[in-house]
Amino acid sequence: MSNSQATIFSKIIAKEIPAKIVHEDEHCLAFHDIQPQAPVHVLLIPKKPIRSMAEVQPEDASLMGHLMVAAGKIAKDLGLAENGYRVVANTNDHGGQTVYHLHFHILGGRPMSWPPG
Ligand code: AMP
Repeated sequence: MSNSQATIFSKIIAKEIPAKIVHEDEHCLAFHDIQPQAPVHVLLIPKKPIRSMAEVQPEDASLMGHLMVAAGKIAKDLGLAENGYRVVANTNDHGGQTVYHLHFHILGGRPMSWPPG
């Protein structure tokens, strides 16, 4: 499949379907997950349609850095920084990925267990 294949997240970027957006800039968008798994559950996505972590290329290094800086800022803005939170990128089948547009889950508001399921 090509990187340009549309997903539900492409439609959110294009504002064709609604989302509760908490951050947007030139390179990324963050919005509340429709099925939250924690009191705070936000998805952070690049506007570039990369399918998964497995498809990230060396030329995406700057974008990936931008996303990590944004993740930290978003978590702080949502009040998660002091108690802590988790950032997760489910990748491909064994990772439990269901939407093939790269995304980072930002989960917080309760203690997280380890190992993950
Ligand atoms: P993953 O299973 O890691 O690929 O995560 C995909 C996430 O997207 C799931 O947590 C879904 O609940 C979430 N999701 C799917 N559709 C939407 C939507 N329209 N708005 C917000 N979150 C969504």
